[in-house]
Amino acid sequence: MRRFMALTVVGSIAFDSVRTPFGERDRMLGGSAVHFALAASFFTKVRVVGPVGEDFGEEELSVLTGHGIETADIERVPGGETFFWRGHYEHDLNVAHTDDTQLNVFAEFEPKLSDASRSSEVLFLGNIQPDLQRRVRAEANGARFVALDSMNLWIDTARDSLVKAIHEIDCLLLNDAEIRMLTDEPNLIHAARAVHEMGPRIVVAKRGEYGAVLFSPEGAFALPALLLEEVRDPTGAGDSFAGGFLGYLDGLGVAEPPLDELRRAMVYGSTMASFNVEDFGTERVRRLERAEIDARLSEFKALTHFEE
Ligand code: AMP
Repeated sequence: MRRFMALTVVGSIAFDSVRTPFGERDRMLGGSAVHFALAASFFTKVRVVGPVGEDFGEEELSVLTGHGIETADIERVPGGETFFWRGHYEHDLNVAHTDDTQLNVFAEFEPKLSDASRSSEVLFLGNIQPDLQRRVRAEANGARFVALDSMNLWIDTARDSLVKAIHEIDCLLLNDAEIRMLTDEPNLIHAARAVHEMGPRIVVAKRGEYGAVLFSPEGAFALPALLLEEVRDPTGAGDSFAGGFLGYLDGLGVAEPPLDELRRAMVYGSTMASFNVEDFGTERVRRLERAEIDARLSEFKALTHFEE
């Protein structure tokens, strides 16, 4: 089977301080691009684009390179500080609160992609300021399948830029509440239709512990999340989902994946998200083995199978 050569991602590369009912961590490695890249690295070659500060050390970088992730387009800004996010979750882990966001080196970031990153056929515009997403989209002239994630902060503060960014992509991945917020449509089917009208032919609504729904021109597909005994920190679940989803699609090497492949990609996305939430930050995915992914895929099949 033909494979695309690699997948490029831009998004936050961060230090996260997170508190959940099950513990807390200070300044752990995180960010949308990091969670995405780690998950996708199980399926394909990944190139990360973005800035870090001087506080981002060899130890952090080696988590990425140790997974075969290409870091040549990670720019270290002299005197700069890495993006920082602080958040906490309620007893119901679906309820997340942002306590602090410091863009730091992202505030002045001028994306410059290497030829290799520019020519990637699959591009993920991870959650970050939408004007930056647009600039990377414009530079990545080899991209044939472009997906984008965002969040309530940017819908609130940079809506026009975000809508322009959404015009230029093939696939939007967003939390269900954020899709409703973006489109001002309470019904998810109507909201997905409104997104289709903005440009993307594929819309994935992420629904936290309740799974995810995909809307495509060929039809819709809904998947629950796996039922897990151990859930400690949902941070990065959305990006891990996107990493499994796009990593799998990149492996197929087709710019217009049919619905049956999109369904499989949803299962890989959910599988990667299920690992991510079992421990803090990147801790679980860092020690993940490929065989565990295959085993969990079978669990998914058993959980969702029924006979008519
Ligand atoms: P999620 O997959 O939605 O849980 O995303 C979690 C990651 O998003 C964390 O590791 C944060 O560093 C990152 N993050 C939080 N807020 C922002 C923001 N405004 N822009 C970019 N990344 C963010």
